Amino acid sequence: MNNHFSESQLEAFLDESLPDEQMTAIEAALRDDSQLAQVLSEIIGRRDAGVHTLGAIWRSHRLSCPSREQLGSYLLDVLESEQRDFICFHLETIGCRYCNASLSDLREQHSATDAAASESRRHKYFQSSAGYLSRDD
Ligand SMILES: [Zn+2]
Repeated sequence: MNNHFSESQLEAFLDESLPDEQMTAIEAALRDDSQLAQVLSEIIGRRDAGVHTLGAIWRSHRLSCPSREQLGSYLLDVLESEQRDFICFHLETIGCRYCNASLSDLREQHSATDAAASESRRHKYFQSSAGYLSRDD
């Protein structure tokens, strides 16, 4: 697949000055089109001789980081596939440290919440007659 985006579009993409639809289209295309990624990283190279990889610029600018809510939805697997793929790409291919950290944080919170919830259900079930209330958080 040849890239069908012009360099000026890619420049605008880097500036995050494209309409959302085009931002998303380019992000999606970058996922499967290594040639496009190459073109983009050449543009980045021209723009900033100190930054050589797409991953680096992505990380340093935190381009298109999903929100914490989106990461939460990703964790719960309730996103539409396109969005889920993007977040997966962002986390695993780009390897965004910030989002990976947020995600493991959310995962911890989530499993703590789950554990607390089932704990409190158990307590309610077994000890409701004793007037047992769940622990303070
Ligand atoms: Zn991120």
